[in-house]
Amino acid sequence: MDRCVLAVIRTQPFALVCGQMERIRAVGLLSGGLDSMLAVRLMQEQGVEVHAVNFTSPIHGRSHEKNRAEEEARVLGIPLKRIELGPEYLRMIRQPKYGYGSGMNPCIDCHIFMLRMAKRYAREIGAKFIFTGEVLGERPMSQNEQALRTVEKAAGLEGRVLRPLSAGLLPETEAERKGWVDRSRLLSIRGRSRKPQMELAKSLGISSFPLPGGGCLLAEKEFAPRIRDLFAHRRRISLTDVLLLRVGRHFRFGDVKVVVGRDEDENKALLSLDDGHMTYLEAAEENGPVAVLQGRPKKSTLLTAARLTARYCDGTGPVLVKCRRGDRVQHLRVERMPEVEVKAHMIAGKNGRARSMGAQ
Ligand code: SF4
Repeated sequence: MDRCVLAVIRTQPFALVCGQMERIRAVGLLSGGLDSMLAVRLMQEQGVEVHAVNFTSPIHGRSHEKNRAEEEARVLGIPLKRIELGPEYLRMIRQPKYGYGSGMNPCIDCHIFMLRMAKRYAREIGAKFIFTGEVLGERPMSQNEQALRTVEKAAGLEGRVLRPLSAGLLPETEAERKGWVDRSRLLSIRGRSRKPQMELAKSLGISSFPLPGGGCLLAEKEFAPRIRDLFAHRRRISLTDVLLLRVGRHFRFGDVKVVVGRDEDENKALLSLDDGHMTYLEAAEENGPVAVLQGRPKKSTLLTAARLTARYCDGTGPVLVKCRRGDRVQHLRVERMPEVEVKAHMIAGKNGRARSMGAQ
């Protein structure tokens, strides 16, 4: 047989569907990182028609990451389905069956959740299997052999999730057994070193990819206290609650939470969240931040929030703070809150800073 024809046959897996040969279609989880891009390329090299899914949520999807997945799908030449993780996902974070990692990251439950959604999508588009860019041993909690098995089983996909980057180290999956992909052309990468992935990227002609790091806010230790505080004080979590987590310095005064902007952008972000049920505080005469108070404050709590806002204003001495809730406005002249009181009410990690969110 002509070698070119043979090459085409080897790289184009087909399945017999209703008497017709159809190209094998698979759903790949595109995370916005290099590993998932490589997994897609490996599948494309085997002639698989890849459709990507990418998950977003305000709790861990930064806007540039959304664009990153879109950009990656464009570079890879594949269709991308965006799936928004909604209230059901938030409920899972509150009570994950398999617990949290070092922050508030319920990675195993999260993977199960995403695989279930990917399974639904795969069914919708007639995809034969699902694959991910996971690498054995890359993440201690969720990418060890036991965890990979647990996740598959709980998602109802036992033996049906292919991990092309580590497949040689894992049991054979349905896709390999049925000849949809050639196991001998899959890889056996293990561990946290990124070197094999970098070399593979080079050999596959992938020159533009995100640097490792960043990732999910749930995994950031400094973000965890904010989520814990939210879960402890709110039975039902709104989108505004989640968006607020990402902005400003956070303080707790009983039932009331106060968030203080750290710069112009954060002040604007806080103002944009006005749903009519929050109280906004701002210095009437000095330069200072926008602060937002969630909950119905007693007069004493409003005074406390005003003193907190005053603490971050320019100058010294008392500050006139404008408090606005909907159309109602009042002014309070207050002393600045002393540092020891500020620290006592801050919702923060051990060092009192939300590093990744740029706290000052
Ligand atoms: S790091 Fe975040 S997004 Fe990734 S699996 Fe864990 S919880 Fe889910």
